[in-house]
Amino acid sequence: MRRLRKVKIVATLGPSSSTPEMVTRLFEAGADVFRINMSHTSHERLKELVGVIRGVEKKMGRPIGVLVDLQGPKLRLGKFAEGAVMLEKDQTFVLDSDPTPGDATRVHLPHPEILEALEPGHHLLLDDGKVRLVAESSTPTETVTRVLVGGRMSDRKGVSLPDTLIKTSAMTPKDHSDLAAALETGCEWIALSFVQRPEDVVEAKEIIQGRAAVMVKIEKPQAMGRLQEIIDLSDSIMVARGDLGVEMPIEKVPGLQKQMTRACRRSGKPVIVATQMLESMITQPMPTRAETSDVATAVFEGADAIMLSAESAAGSYPTEAVAMMDSIARSVESDPYYRSIIDAQHAVPEATGADAISAAARQIAETLDLAVIMCWTAGGTTGRRAARERPKTPIVALTPNLDTSRRLTLTWGVHSLLTTDAYDLDDMVDRACDFALSEGFAEPGDRIIVSAGVPLRQPGATNMLRIAYISQDGRGADNARR
Ligand code: PGA
Ligand code: MN
Repeated sequence: MRRLRKVKIVATLGPSSSTPEMVTRLFEAGADVFRINMSHTSHERLKELVGVIRGVEKKMGRPIGVLVDLQGPKLRLGKFAEGAVMLEKDQTFVLDSDPTPGDATRVHLPHPEILEALEPGHHLLLDDGKVRLVAESSTPTETVTRVLVGGRMSDRKGVSLPDTLIKTSAMTPKDHSDLAAALETGCEWIALSFVQRPEDVVEAKEIIQGRAAVMVKIEKPQAMGRLQEIIDLSDSIMVARGDLGVEMPIEKVPGLQKQMTRACRRSGKPVIVATQMLESMITQPMPTRAETSDVATAVFEGADAIMLSAESAAGSYPTEAVAMMDSIARSVESDPYYRSIIDAQHAVPEATGADAISAAARQIAETLDLAVIMCWTAGGTTGRRAARERPKTPIVALTPNLDTSRRLTLTWGVHSLLTTDAYDLDDMVDRACDFALSEGFAEPGDRIIVSAGVPLRQPGATNMLRIAYISQDGRGADNARR
């Protein structure tokens, strides 16, 4: 199965999308990577969901990425007896240390450190700032607030405190235990929330020890200040616009998104644009014009991936939301302006073999109008560097490494394939030709370009390019015409 777009789609799983049937439908509609949000998922459910995704992967015969998103020191309300309440402007609302489910007058705030740090006059932003409270009085067990902006409030919504200094470490005890459970499932990606400093990334990497790739969610002003150092330490970046738009003035978010997508593209690290991309599709079968334009903007920028949160996890139209993202992406990528915008930000190759080969592969493929760039890659670097060129020509990454094949599902334009190791160089070229045909990237008589490292099985040794001609009988490379 071949996707007809370069940008990848990440779909969050949840109550609307947890059965094998639904995950299959989301994959068929276009989801390349599935995200499991540990803010809303038990360890048992996590294990089940990863099992479901692996089952779908097997059935579909295509690598699928699994991203486990750690909650981080996100502060959240407790639960309500009825699941949700309405808060009216000017009413009094109490946050306290009592774990009893809440009502319209009070709710549990399961963070003693906030109750202790809150002072009269401090603002509390609930659910990404949709509801706003101001503290009127506070003791270590209870804060009495007045509602400045009312609205619906439901279980475990986020709390942001722009005025309050709280002592929180990068990973909470819950994150540590969720991380251990996630690594046990063998997921490829771990996302870290509320990273403030490069040291936070180092701390997580010391535990992960290469067992999964690390995605850093940028959602704090402090992290923006040290963006390049954080990118250098991480395997991928998420533009986490939800919390970023609460922690920073909302009007700054579009510019920050551009800054992050460009910095990641220069560094060759996959970047995901996330949150509220098709928000209205939680309840409606069609998005708004503005949402459509927002998704299109991320695609025009050359982001590696675009993400659905509640739209696919808890909405009424999960499949439609994925299909809509897919249609918007395909339409943008065939727009006459797309190429010129992508090319305007072309990243200069670095002085490495992989970059020189990737730039040359792109140039040769475009000059000779070759059908596909086939790259053999062990750890995935060659695939990512090929994508950094943002070529018009499709990229297929061939790897004998299961983990690499799954991680590459997040990278722009890369169709990754798991295969067995090649015997020698001729075998690499022959197999590249076979895959180009069988995966629908080339037809008999087409020419392709193959990149590889010689000697084989040495990671980071990409040093070879070969133009191969697929014989008319479709049986691999035509050596006579090579
Ligand atoms: P979240 O992260 O949905 O886990 O909060 C994404 C964001 O903040 O945008
Ligand atoms: Mn967030």
